[in-house]
Amino acid sequence: MITLNQVVKQFATKKGTITAVDDVNLTINEGEIYGVIGFSGAGKSTLIRMFNGLEKPTTGDVVVGGDNIAELSPTDLRKKRQKIGMIFQHFNLLWSRTVFDNISFPLEIAGVSKSERTARVNELIRMVGLEGRENAYPSQLSGGQKQRVGIARSLANNPTVLLCDEATSALDPQTTDEILDLLVNINRQLNLTIILITHEMQVIRKICHQVAVMENGRVVEQGPVMQVFENP
Ligand code: ADP
Ligand code: ADP
Repeated sequence: MITLNQVVKQFATKKGTITAVDDVNLTINEGEIYGVIGFSGAGKSTLIRMFNGLEKPTTGDVVVGGDNIAELSPTDLRKKRQKIGMIFQHFNLLWSRTVFDNISFPLEIAGVSKSERTARVNELIRMVGLEGRENAYPSQLSGGQKQRVGIARSLANNPTVLLCDEATSALDPQTTDEILDLLVNINRQLNLTIILITHEMQVIRKICHQVAVMENGRVVEQGPVMQVFENP
């Protein structure tokens, strides 16, 4: 389970203090697909980056699987991050590495042996449907294929949580649907908790169980998608 308790995140800027996340309380259960929707500047990226410690709350607690992220030692935070995968709008692949080597990268960092890496990467390539593309470079792939590489890489260390930062926003509608279908399959197969941020309502409607609506750093509505969006 993941909980945010009275989380506030402020940034000091030349123009004064910006409150990017303003007193947010959330509970996300294991195996849920949880969507956060809002316009640009609402605080979604800042919020999602607090789940894996890329941002630290100014006040309040972010608790992931029983651990308060802000209280972990650097070593423990590194271990925790291996269990929290992340995918991005612009994929963040390594351009000089092949598909295989991109997916292998987090396993190398984790110190996994070469033979285990090979077996694991091949399994991940099958899972995301990239058989035959192992030796391609990112520049030779379509947007959807690049995101499949991103997904495979994010799953390499068997995470319990997957964070998706506008993961389909750079893709056309049909490719968006294919990637969302893949995320649903992975959610079911692995009982993986998925937290996604988006500005696109159809992404929330298509795959999310729960949704939080953000405005000016605040969660103004949250609950099951049907309840939040389908009521008169
Ligand atoms: P969203 O992801 O919903 O577009 P963000 O979390 O990126 O929103 O931004 C929320 C607010 O916080 C915006 O006003 C943004 O300019 C500000 N902000 C985000 N990151 C920083 C930062 N590192 N320094 C200063 N302001 C920031
Ligand atoms: P750079 O800082 O030049 O972008 P990095 O080697 O730090 O290069 O990271 C490149 C990409 O690889 C990043 O976008 C990041 O998402 C990904 N990456 C880095 N470390 C890991 C990791 N431990 N697990 C998964 N992906 C990672």
